[in-house]
Amino acid sequence: MNDKTTPATTNFIRQIIDADLSVGKNDSRVHTRFPPEPNGFLHIGHAKSICLNFGIARDYPGGLCNLRFDDTNPHKENVEFVDSIQADVRWLGFDWGERLFYASDYFADLYGFAVELVKAGKAYVCDLTADEIREHRGTLTEPGRESPYRNRTVDENLDLLERMKSGEFEDGARVLRAKIDMASPNMNMRDPTLYRIRHGVIHHQTGEEWCMYPMYDFTHPISDALEGITHSLCTLEFEDHRPLYDWVLDNISIGCHPRQIEFSRLNLQYTVMSKRKLTQLVDDGYVSDWDDPRMPTIAGLRRRGYTPASIRTFADRIGITKSDNSIEMGVLEACVREDLDTHAPRRMGVLHPLKLVIENYPDGQEEALSAMNHPKDESMGSRSIPFTREIFIDQADFRETANKKFKRLVSGGEVRLRNAYVIKCEQVIKDANGEVIELRCSYDPDTLGTNPEGRKVRGVIHWVSARHGVKAEVRLYDRLFSHPAPDSDKTVSSFTEHLNPDSLHTLTHAIVEPSLAAAGAGDRFQYEREGYFCVDSKESSSERLVFNRTVTLRDSWAKIEQQASK
Ligand code: ATP
Ligand code: MG
Repeated sequence: MNDKTTPATTNFIRQIIDADLSVGKNDSRVHTRFPPEPNGFLHIGHAKSICLNFGIARDYPGGLCNLRFDDTNPHKENVEFVDSIQADVRWLGFDWGERLFYASDYFADLYGFAVELVKAGKAYVCDLTADEIREHRGTLTEPGRESPYRNRTVDENLDLLERMKSGEFEDGARVLRAKIDMASPNMNMRDPTLYRIRHGVIHHQTGEEWCMYPMYDFTHPISDALEGITHSLCTLEFEDHRPLYDWVLDNISIGCHPRQIEFSRLNLQYTVMSKRKLTQLVDDGYVSDWDDPRMPTIAGLRRRGYTPASIRTFADRIGITKSDNSIEMGVLEACVREDLDTHAPRRMGVLHPLKLVIENYPDGQEEALSAMNHPKDESMGSRSIPFTREIFIDQADFRETANKKFKRLVSGGEVRLRNAYVIKCEQVIKDANGEVIELRCSYDPDTLGTNPEGRKVRGVIHWVSARHGVKAEVRLYDRLFSHPAPDSDKTVSSFTEHLNPDSLHTLTHAIVEPSLAAAGAGDRFQYEREGYFCVDSKESSSERLVFNRTVTLRDSWAKIEQQASK
């Protein structure tokens, strides 16, 4: 299942676990969990957390990792998201076995613990409105004020809590709050809300059974403890919530106290990562769906042609730390480029076809030339490609005149056709507007697999037999945003203002070699000299082949920057 070739890199979390194990903590168990909220598709940031949590379980003897849906906001969640999350975690190469849980599995337990807190005088039902609660909370420099309902008796609280549960009160009428410290320097400790009332939503797991739902800060520590989690790994924004996590577990009768450890979130340049913003891109039609190949979602990356191994390598390469940073897209692209360079079979595809007639090649003749599927890996075998009098080359591989740096075809010049012969451009045919529409060439029959004597042919270009080539649609993607940090620019009213208007370029007249007609959804190839492509898993069919460009052969952004500095 997992890529054993990538050694797990150590990090400060693994060092904490090692230290815990060395003193025999948790009966020497290591048990993590990945707890997504099913309110959207997983993104590459989640992949970092998945690789961390499942990676630890994989690497420690007897290690376990649960997949737990943190489903306490039913109005934003649904089963489609639950299903997509499971599919994406599996696709990444991780397996939770039997350990699939829902926070909603614990709703009854959670209610029981709430009753315990009330009985111990550590929680109370508060009738303040949301605005009043906010106003009472104070600020970072001023202590909060106690709620007038803070000193209700245990009996009154028990009665009100029971009536909240049975549906007697409207949404927002009352909440259950922890009784901690309204003067705490940590705002999260100023009597945080534990339960709120929410009628009329049908929960994807519990239906209409509940009309009040527990808050994250109450649910999460208890879910972790009930599952016997030893190390609860989360992102840095929860650091300030850790005292509350610990408070909850210290004040109820639960025999397990997982250790919360925070690490920094992944931020990736030229994209956004929050599910709220990704939802907006989908809902407002800026992208076709959650799996649009420009999206930073796992589903989008998969459809774009990313491999699970490349994403795991990426997660390993960026590492786990406590410092916030923003990773260049080039780091992610390099990971998939390396993987595909090793594993993707080579093919020929012409993106902008220009017809080329080899005048001294007999009409009707056809040769089956052999081409290796990978120049460095013979085990990938070879295939046969048909050569004929009429072929297509790419428009970009011909110029009427050019300096010596242009190692492709020029008028009167020679070039090698990849896996075939050396040809010479004899005549250029143009239309009424002066556009080149056809090239007339000659070929040297003695140059198959050997160089011509006495002449140096420097360029090699790709081609496809006109008669055998298969029409294809090719989608070229660029970054979704033209700003490196679209959601942190305060000078615009919405991050969507930074969307790159040219993030998708569709070529409808590409011609690819005939072997590609049989390619199946998701198959990945290198089109020689062009980049890595995969068959679109949603819209490609035998009638209409659609390819997505995963990544260019080289870092084109580095090239652009180089050229700019010349
Ligand atoms: P978002 O803001 O995108 O909705 P979230 O943190 O609310 O993210 P959850 O579904 O609650 O999303 O996250 C599940 C787990 O994935 C959490 O442990 C969370 O910390 C982690 N996670 C989410 N985003 C990132 C990220 N960008 N980098 C690393 N881990 C992340
Ligand atoms: Mg969330």
